Amino acid sequence: MVSKVKGPIKVAGNSYYMPATSNAGLFKGYVIDPGSVGYDDLCRDDVHSVLITHGHNDHFRHAHEFREKGARVIASKDDALLVRNPEVNVRGLFSWARPPAEMITPYFQGDACEVDLYVEDWLDSSIKSVWLPGHTLGEYGFITEDAVLYSGDSLYSKEIWSKYKLPYSIDPELCRESLIKIKGLDFDYVVPGHGDPMERDDALKAADYHLEQLDRVDEIILGLIEEPVSTESLVTRFSYKLDLYKSLNNYWLTLVMLKGHLSSLNHKGKVAYRLENYCMYWYKV
Ligand SMILES: [Zn+2]
Repeated sequence: MVSKVKGPIKVAGNSYYMPATSNAGLFKGYVIDPGSVGYDDLCRDDVHSVLITHGHNDHFRHAHEFREKGARVIASKDDALLVRNPEVNVRGLFSWARPPAEMITPYFQGDACEVDLYVEDWLDSSIKSVWLPGHTLGEYGFITEDAVLYSGDSLYSKEIWSKYKLPYSIDPELCRESLIKIKGLDFDYVVPGHGDPMERDDALKAADYHLEQLDRVDEIILGLIEEPVSTESLVTRFSYKLDLYKSLNNYWLTLVMLKGHLSSLNHKGKVAYRLENYCMYWYKV
């Protein structure tokens, strides 16, 4: 394992990270995902760029502080929309209506930040981007010349799975493709958005585990809809089955996640739906 010390921790070469609720990456003049780590935590004035893996506030909450000190902010075209206007995420989670304040997940709350450059238009031979959608549409990972992959929320470590039984994704098929892509990438270490860095073997195991969990969610859903079940009832039954933490936040995230899996299973011809008496029912085909 990578040894842990206080302050920025070296992963390899010039690639560092600062452990936090959302880990921040450091590579030369780049800071990656300043979601929990702010300008004052870092105490460095040589940051020329902020790289944002994806447009969830817990990954860019402090980006504006670095920008105010002169750094440029880089995010993907898709997720720049969410960075510039976090309200889009909030509304999206609530089917575009305005949710009651207490229903807004803290992951999506925080300051907006202007994006100066799109990942797609940015080039640096010492650090490369790789598109890893599924958790959001425009999520990117960044691989440094030290073979360190900063993976954002595209890959969860085992410890995160024990904490969150149902990591958030909006598209399980894109998630699967991204995990398979990660397994084919050339890296020695992964610094995930949350949890400890992983050496390559552990990261590959984590990718396989993540793939298995996506399949498991599909299987559980199929087991719960042998008979037609309403969307609302499925959220309840699924949450009991996995003994999910009871919170408003979890309810909404689970609903989005389940809709993604139901849609994916429908595309595969395994799940059908019908609207009956103004209620949407899902059932196994
Ligand atoms: Zn995220």
